[in-house]
Amino acid sequence: MVSGRTASPNLPNIRKLTIVAQDPLVRIGGRILTAEVEIPAEELLPGPCGYRINVIDYDSTNNVLYDAAEHEFRDGTYLDPYSKETLRAKSAAAFNSALLEDPKFHAQNAYAIAMRILARFEFALGRRCAWGSEGHQLHVAPHAFAEANAFYSKEDRGLFFGYFAGTAGRPIYTCLSHDVVAHETTHALLDAIRPRFLEPSSPDQAAFHEGFSDIVALLSVFSLKDIVGTLLDAGGKSPLIDQKFLTPEALKRSVLFGLAKEMGQELSQVRGQALRRSVELEPGGKYMTMPEFLEPHRRGELVVAAMMNAFIDIWVSRLARIGFLQRGKKDRSLVVEEGARVANHLLTMSIRALDYCPTTDITFHDYLSALLTIDREVVADDSKYGYRDSLSGTSRSSISVSRKLPIPTAHGSNARGSSSTTAAISIRCCATRKRCSGSSGRTVFLSRSPRMAMWRSRTSGPATAWAPTDSSSMRPSPSTSRS
Ligand SMILES: [Zn+2]
Repeated sequence: MVSGRTASPNLPNIRKLTIVAQDPLVRIGGRILTAEVEIPAEELLPGPCGYRINVIDYDSTNNVLYDAAEHEFRDGTYLDPYSKETLRAKSAAAFNSALLEDPKFHAQNAYAIAMRILARFEFALGRRCAWGSEGHQLHVAPHAFAEANAFYSKEDRGLFFGYFAGTAGRPIYTCLSHDVVAHETTHALLDAIRPRFLEPSSPDQAAFHEGFSDIVALLSVFSLKDIVGTLLDAGGKSPLIDQKFLTPEALKRSVLFGLAKEMGQELSQVRGQALRRSVELEPGGKYMTMPEFLEPHRRGELVVAAMMNAFIDIWVSRLARIGFLQRGKKDRSLVVEEGARVANHLLTMSIRALDYCPTTDITFHDYLSALLTIDREVVADDSKYGYRDSLSGTSRSSISVSRKLPIPTAHGSNARGSSSTTAAISIRCCATRKRCSGSSGRTVFLSRSPRMAMWRSRTSGPATAWAPTDSSSMRPSPSTSRS
């Protein structure tokens, strides 16, 4: 591809593209809630096809290759065909149709979310991040097959998103769910950073891939101010918000349960109900030893619960520092900003922790230890937000640590926790329950089916070697303080 620097020396570092903020069912005033997200700017070919992600809209069920989405280049940047300014004049119904019925928007949505997750990893780690599959480019198929499924395939170097008929007969596109796209993209990135996490090991290792991908997906959703603001009090418009909505219980009920509810039953067969079930876990339960929680997906919910409870705890403590503008009412924008900021901080911490994790046989204790250790290395003074205290506390309550979490003092001395059960449970990358249920043969079906052979014929060719120095976007190094 043509180098962005050569072809467009004035291309900015960042561009904004419109995405569905969470799910097409989350609406305000009848309109699908959208968000403009910042992603690294790069030269774009039709697809969109950039340096790291190539969207190929091939439907293997119908053997159809849809027209590629194109972005007009004007005034030194690529225009967003679905920006608020472009679609503002449309009625709610026309606005929704413009997004739901346009496969080119679906392609943009998948591209932008995957790029945003990639950028978050590169920001948190301060370096380029490869994909778990070969080559520098990950293929993304937004309408890969007519099936309630979505997964990352290392062999096929891609993310595949299915579509299916919902309960009301309307089509459900998994590529339009922020949660699903972010989750699958995280699988592809985690597979590069710790490839042995897909090997048979303890129940914790099998569960970690799913739990961690859920954490990244959920925190990246909560870091969107539009989502936080909408869920707080069901889309209230007042610039002030009543304190009764800002207690830990109220925030759990509105923000966590609200999002879990909005994720809807339609996608539950693809996505599971990790958030809904994890926030329902009562603190202090002996979940780690329960037979039910030896199943990888169920077990993954424990680590999700720890992180989401920490998110609420820290957010509430930050809100206590915001004064009242009127009796019992606080500034809504400050409340939303604090929530999004806490989600962003936790997301960065969660990703950074991977560098301090063992290369294989990870346990939840290892991950939490890595999380606390790397954060202390990078942000020595945690007194402003108290992330480490909060994480340590919430993890004890849901992951039921029977001993104090190890917090090493020496640089890099990430002491391993005692190993838990070593029952050999294999997890085969993502993502859905169907995909992961290896004994059903579903995985074999998907990866060896004629449909996937057709996909390969569309994307075949030698993989370009991973070359981080060739990447067209620059990301800042990790910050040394939290702003
Ligand atoms: Zn998954």
